[in-house]
Amino acid sequence: MTYAAKAVAFCLALAPAVVPVAASAETPRLLATVGMIADPAARIAGDCVAVEALIGPGLDPHLYQPRPSDIERLRQADRVVALGLGLEGRLGDVLARTGALILGDTLDPAWLLDDDGAPDPHLWMDPQLWSSLLPTLAGTLAEMAPDCAQDIDTRMAEEAARFEALDTWATESMASIPAGARVLLTAHDAFAYFSERYGLENLAIQGISTESEPSIAAIDSLARDAAERAIPAVFIETTLNPRAVRALIEAAAARGHTLALGGELYSDALGEPGSGADTYPGMIVANVITITEALGGTPAPLPEGLVPH
Ligand SMILES: [Zn+2]
Repeated sequence: MTYAAKAVAFCLALAPAVVPVAASAETPRLLATVGMIADPAARIAGDCVAVEALIGPGLDPHLYQPRPSDIERLRQADRVVALGLGLEGRLGDVLARTGALILGDTLDPAWLLDDDGAPDPHLWMDPQLWSSLLPTLAGTLAEMAPDCAQDIDTRMAEEAARFEALDTWATESMASIPAGARVLLTAHDAFAYFSERYGLENLAIQGISTESEPSIAAIDSLARDAAERAIPAVFIETTLNPRAVRALIEAAAARGHTLALGGELYSDALGEPGSGADTYPGMIVANVITITEALGGTPAPLPEGLVPH
């Protein structure tokens, strides 16, 4: 019997008419900033910890401003988990005040890609790198629900195996893209880890953050590159206005090059419920299929159970 259970038993024995267990019996609550953290955390937590994401589907974490109701949710959560590394740019102060666990601070800095002297936060694009955060997440969940520690550990191992299978499937799919087409041209620079992992060259209209609009000169210079190198496609992102991508397609057309719209990628948020990209593995699968097909490859058969329901 745990100490809590003993205390309850003792109280019940003393005063059977009053049951003072409501507070201790409540499920602890973990609030993660983004779905890419909340989704695997929720599977590892099971029924032991209630896990939610602060920033919903389709919203850009770089620009996200907390609403008054968000401040309340942050205050009511037993634990707040963020990635940091500049991802939740406008939440920094609020996160510091809630004593949030900043996952990015727990990583070996040698694993981080550099962007003009600052770390690139888009780590989730590499399932192998993202998997390295699972033990930290599981450790936090086990602290919040010590009675569940063993189950949490078991589910963490299952999740790590899922991430490994995801990476294997993605590697096989991406390898099918022909050598001349292995360029990933996107709206903002969210795909450096992805490109590094799967052997693509990464080009973006905009930098790491989405704070400023891309310049006409930047768009024109990329259009020239795309035309000279016959880059087949450019991709839009669910969290960004597609204006800059349309401008790039027009600028390439003016140079006589047809730059196809490769499709929509999930960069900085999971998809809406029912989209198939509403889980972290589903997001990676959707991106890999979109990119592979647009660049002339063939996605590998999807293993059973890779994308959770
Ligand atoms: Zn981003």
